Amino acid sequence: MNENLQIRTYKKSGHIEVICGSMFSGKTEELIRRIRRAEIARQRVKVFKPKIDNRYSEFEIVSHNEQSYPSEVVNNAEEILDKCFDVDVIGIDEAQFFENDLVQICQNLADSGKRVIVAGLDQDYRALPFEPMPQLLAIAEYITKTLAVCVVCGAQANRTQRVTDSDEQILVGAKNHYEARCRLHHMINIDSKKEAI
Ligand code: ADP
Ligand code: MG
Repeated sequence: MNENLQIRTYKKSGHIEVICGSMFSGKTEELIRRIRRAEIARQRVKVFKPKIDNRYSEFEIVSHNEQSYPSEVVNNAEEILDKCFDVDVIGIDEAQFFENDLVQICQNLADSGKRVIVAGLDQDYRALPFEPMPQLLAIAEYITKTLAVCVVCGAQANRTQRVTDSDEQILVGAKNHYEARCRLHHMINIDSKKEAI
């Protein structure tokens, strides 16, 4: 038979989408929007967040403008793999709080035909790349960079200012600890809130 006329059956290809940006830039909002659209398309969805993020709710991802969607808390990335056998679309919020094995887990999920949507901070409060996001950005098929509004000058904000005195890379919190700032008004050392204004 002519090879060109042969019917080829391909396995459905999955992919990885990354939504990244500073705090308050709308990552969770955008993740929820995509998940809701997948639901309208009658796809089977599941959303996960790391145990460390207990800011607003144990059982939901919640955006700063109070949009929410049910989610499961997982202790590590491996747990996500175990829970996604019968799922088409997987949402993962606060990806920067997972270990680097999240990268391979996302690859495995996408390789098995699933749509994986990962949201997370691409930079920490010092404006340094926040692992594992850089690696996820490298392997993703689709990337969305969200920007917030600088609280000092109103420009586009690509950075997260820590406004309390701590030098831990991870300090979970929202408006009490962090602000969105542009390049010009972002300061590594505090008392930066005063200095910037
Ligand atoms: P992220 O997940 O990126 O931290 P969210 O999706 O939770 O962001 O929240 C985005 C919402 O935060 C915006 O729609 C807006 O209502 C609110 N918001 C509060 N402060 C800011 C800011 N400085 N810039 C932009 N949006 C802000
Ligand atoms: Mg968020």
